[in-house]
Amino acid sequence: MALVKGLKCRECGRPFENAPIHVCEYCFGPLEITYDYDEIKRRISREVIASRPPNMWRYRELLPIDGDPTVGQEVGFTPLFRADRLGKALGLKNLYIKNDAVNHPTLSFKDRVVGVALSKAKEFGFTTVACASTGNLANSVAANAARAGLEAYVFMPADLEQGKIIGTRIYGAHLIGISGNYDDVNRLCSEIAGKYGWAFVNINIRPYYAEGSKSFGYELVEQMGWKLPDEIVVPMAGGSLITKIHKSFEEMIRVGLIRGPVGTRFHGAQGSGCAPIVAAVKARMDFFKPVKDPKTVAKSLAIGNPADGYYAIRQIRSSGGWAEDPTDEEIVEGMKLLARTEGVFTETAGGVTIGALKRLAAEHRIDPDATVVACITGNGLKTLEAITAHSRVMEYPVIPAKLEAFDAYFASSRAA
Ligand SMILES: *Cc1c(COP(=O)(O)O)cnc(C)c1O
Ligand SMILES: [Zn+2]
Repeated sequence: MALVKGLKCRECGRPFENAPIHVCEYCFGPLEITYDYDEIKRRISREVIASRPPNMWRYRELLPIDGDPTVGQEVGFTPLFRADRLGKALGLKNLYIKNDAVNHPTLSFKDRVVGVALSKAKEFGFTTVACASTGNLANSVAANAARAGLEAYVFMPADLEQGKIIGTRIYGAHLIGISGNYDDVNRLCSEIAGKYGWAFVNINIRPYYAEGSKSFGYELVEQMGWKLPDEIVVPMAGGSLITKIHKSFEEMIRVGLIRGPVGTRFHGAQGSGCAPIVAAVKARMDFFKPVKDPKTVAKSLAIGNPADGYYAIRQIRSSGGWAEDPTDEEIVEGMKLLARTEGVFTETAGGVTIGALKRLAAEHRIDPDATVVACITGNGLKTLEAITAHSRVMEYPVIPAKLEAFDAYFASSRAA
């Protein structure tokens, strides 16, 4: 018995069969997966889940594939840990980090969405996969396609970081740089998807792909001892992750894994040079104004026209949360602060999370006694340019291999 019933339009509610489609042909609303939750409730329990291997597929009944996963079988179950030293620096007593900077295999939360998308693409019979990317998705599609024996075409803005470029090409994917921003890339890819008939993970199979993000939420609830956090801070690009974490909480209640209602306040974070969702939340608007020329050190979040922006705004607002948009300097400070206090080197998107968390704590938008989860979604080794451009990290002493030389260095460094 299939647990995935099919697709449904989020706006008009019309149902569709499982297929590589993403918009409603009647009202152009986005399509979403529908499940047989009663049957899922019969099949899973905390015990069943806990008995399974530590990866995101321990929640397989709530992920939209029909057979066994064939791509990304080891993705997920990344660490959740108490961050007392960072908490102390920010005045928060119960702070946790969920660390997808160490997700397998490409060190970002995108491995979750790609594991689901490529498993589904194979079920649909595709042999070529593709994506429009701000970097991490490119890395993950390239790596997972290589292992699955799929051909991969990856499109991204031509000015991305070296780590994102090398971390795509090394796997043998076809990388095409586009002179333009992400929204230009995305527009082109919609045309290519229609013409070439490939599985574009975040275009024609987007409804399946996006569901992979839910696993971030399931895991953190399980890792918190089957409890929901009071507050969560989520970095936003297209605005999908923040809405899918909320959906994951609702589903866990619906299938009887935890008790409701969801009282978690959702806080969104974007870099100040590309913050259409944050701006709308702050202006108390229902709709965002697209950013035409994104300029932020957080390139992985630089989407000027976020596909799920409208839903992200609603999610933040209805939960009683807020949104913040740290500057480039605050983003790099956030990266350094997390590294120094908790020993985690995150990419610029994680610096956005920490920069926003710091502002939210200082503005008393987050209760200092609440349980707070900060979502770290990518790895710092992929965005070294942000650090070298904004700090003096490359200035350090070089001495001869002589004890006297070290003695002299140590004495003078102590005196300084
Ligand atoms: C893609 C991405 C996000 C946000 O994803 P959306 O679901 O598009 O909002 C956050 N962090 C990192 C590192 C990403 O690559
Ligand atoms: Zn519709």
